[in-house]
Amino acid sequence: MSSSRRAAPQATLREGLVVSAHGRHCVVETPEGERVICHPRGKRLTVVVGDRVRWLPSQDEGVIERIDERRNLLYRQDEVRTKSFAANLDQVLILVAAEPEFSEHQLARALIDSPGFQEFGLHHIDPMQLAAYMPDIKPHVAECRFYNCTHLHEPGCGVMAAVESATGAGGISAHRYKIYSDLFAELTGGG
Ligand SMILES: [Zn+2]
Repeated sequence: MSSSRRAAPQATLREGLVVSAHGRHCVVETPEGERVICHPRGKRLTVVVGDRVRWLPSQDEGVIERIDERRNLLYRQDEVRTKSFAANLDQVLILVAAEPEFSEHQLARALIDSPGFQEFGLHHIDPMQLAAYMPDIKPHVAECRFYNCTHLHEPGCGVMAAVESATGAGGISAHRYKIYSDLFAELTGGG
């Protein structure tokens, strides 16, 4: 049957990137750079900044029909509910109040143990690139004898040498090195 009963003309979905989200409304930027206020169709669809969406123009607003698959999602979770903040992140800057005592290590364990962190997806980081994400460790990687050094046990490792001479400027504190090795173990599934 060539009946067109089920082939109702479907308006073409347009692509867009959510650049801001306020409750049920958000601003979607088109590939052409045009910005359109949109709202998601249906209550179940929750969009966050960073979402790539498909939307339909509707008078002077747009209706988001669906969200493309997210590479990652940053959210906060407590006993009661989950609040999503952003999706498809390339980089996260974490700010921590410095009082009463700031524990980098706690933070690093929190940069892992919380479901939100897992979901956010530290796991997309190649463990061999981890050192590049830690500004105090990164410069010493160039001093390693082996290009594929994990900085955990190799001879001639510039990172381990910098930990041993941590008192000097540009050294790596034992504490920071511990964070590095813990994260490395998490990323490689060693734990
Ligand atoms: Zn090394």
